[in-house]
Amino acid sequence: MSQAIEERAKANELWSKLRFDPSTGSVWLDEQRMLLLHTGSLGALRAELIRSLGEERAAGLLLRMGYHSGVQDAEIARRLVGDGNYEDVFLIGPALHQLEGVVEVETVSLDLDVEAGHFAGEFLWRNGWEAKAHISEFGVGDHAACWNQIGYATGYVSAFLGRRVRFEETECRCKGDETCRIVGRTVEGESEDLAPDDIAGEIDAMAEEIHTLRTRLGTHRAPENLVGQSPAFLKSYRLLERAADSAITVLLLGETGVGKEVFAQWLHDHSPRRDKPFVAVNCGAIPHDLIESELFGAEAGAFTGAQGSRAGRFARADGGTLFLDEIGDLPYPAQVKLLRALQTGEIDRLGSDRPQKVDVRLIAATNVDLAQAVADGKFRADLFYRLNPYPIDIPPLRDRASDIPLFVEFLLERMSARHGRPVRGLSDKAMEMLRAYDWPGNIRELENVLERGVMLAEPGGVIDVDALSLPVPPAPQSGMRLTRDGQVKDRKADDMVRAMPDLDLAANEARLLDEALRRAGGDVAEAAKLLGLTRRQIDYRLKARNY
Ligand SMILES: [Zn+2]
Repeated sequence: MSQAIEERAKANELWSKLRFDPSTGSVWLDEQRMLLLHTGSLGALRAELIRSLGEERAAGLLLRMGYHSGVQDAEIARRLVGDGNYEDVFLIGPALHQLEGVVEVETVSLDLDVEAGHFAGEFLWRNGWEAKAHISEFGVGDHAACWNQIGYATGYVSAFLGRRVRFEETECRCKGDETCRIVGRTVEGESEDLAPDDIAGEIDAMAEEIHTLRTRLGTHRAPENLVGQSPAFLKSYRLLERAADSAITVLLLGETGVGKEVFAQWLHDHSPRRDKPFVAVNCGAIPHDLIESELFGAEAGAFTGAQGSRAGRFARADGGTLFLDEIGDLPYPAQVKLLRALQTGEIDRLGSDRPQKVDVRLIAATNVDLAQAVADGKFRADLFYRLNPYPIDIPPLRDRASDIPLFVEFLLERMSARHGRPVRGLSDKAMEMLRAYDWPGNIRELENVLERGVMLAEPGGVIDVDALSLPVPPAPQSGMRLTRDGQVKDRKADDMVRAMPDLDLAANEARLLDEALRRAGGDVAEAAKLLGLTRRQIDYRLKARNY
């Protein structure tokens, strides 16, 4: 009964899962971002698909589109109801289909055995948008045509059961029947419904062609572990590409966690030295009194605890690449030795007076300002100039938020495999949250967050906001975001600044003062705090305006 479906919707408070957020231009159903479309415009698109691609291809596209909706609604049903009567839970699908304004559903018969993976059902569809759109464009014909809705039913039930289900529309208003009637049951093996048709092949071929063209233009997706398409990333990537062939010393600059070692490894893999060793050393992780022997090696008995002579990392990297991370942490005496090695191509093992020739390409990295360290007397100026002929800035993740979906795809694939826990990606809301966050720990932090998400998500499900456990509220609700130094930043205030009519400093200052005073309820000390001014500074400005 459609009444039963309505009751199901009420019992699960489906309406309350639908939220409108006009301030950010979003509509949410649970954690899925929805779209309010005019049936007229979707009907026009549908008609154009049929006219331009032919009925068969258009039907396939519409079916697959519906299938995706059904799968996503099965996700919502699964989240809404922990345990409970399977039949009741199952009927959330038709209830959502109804809530979304697609069609009114009435159950004729339902035989469901989730444990055995069995489903057989018959439903009536009334007032469906698709039949109406079809008839108004093409009139009544000789076959059923509610393809998008059939796709939804197939996707929902298949995802709900974890088994392939096939639906058929035995009666349809598009062929003159009074109502549409669908009959579905579980099937063995793959059904041909969702196999990609010719158009998919054509699109693939086109994508291939675009890829080739982009590669020629130099804006292609970087290979292997270097992930990114954002302008900020591509800027560094192009510098990297140009340095790959040479033996020039490269200095990678960037915050902790931006992936400096991945950049260094890429450089080595694309250099003429790629078949020789790549040796990475984190200078910050090795105790100061051991770093010289680590880097340059030691003869037996050179210092307490040295048993037998050993080669240092320089010697092990001979012919290849040595990557010195956190080079700003290198103690002063080691800096002297490193400079000598770079100038002469020779190293001295501790306790040995016979210098050893090495052929090493050096890549260094730092997250501190080396020029400042030089000014502070902590880093040798001559070594700094030696390291600095070719600096490459690696952007922090917050400056390349458009790359986050690529990282998510790349990292989830790897982590799902590592933990044997398949996930189907992120909910739209979770993705939006990742993009709004400031990522003080950069890609390493993103990895940690996603790894936790993979562990907390339902196997085979999507990672939702709860599973991410980020220390910020979702952006659409608050308009706030967290900056890297832990400050809460107000998007609306940012927008206000952007919306300032002109660059007249005095006028804008007056507006800012007014706004701060308004927010602080007239409390001058509080207003000063909001503006990051001292009490004296704000008093001076207010006095200048004769407050
Ligand atoms: Zn129909």
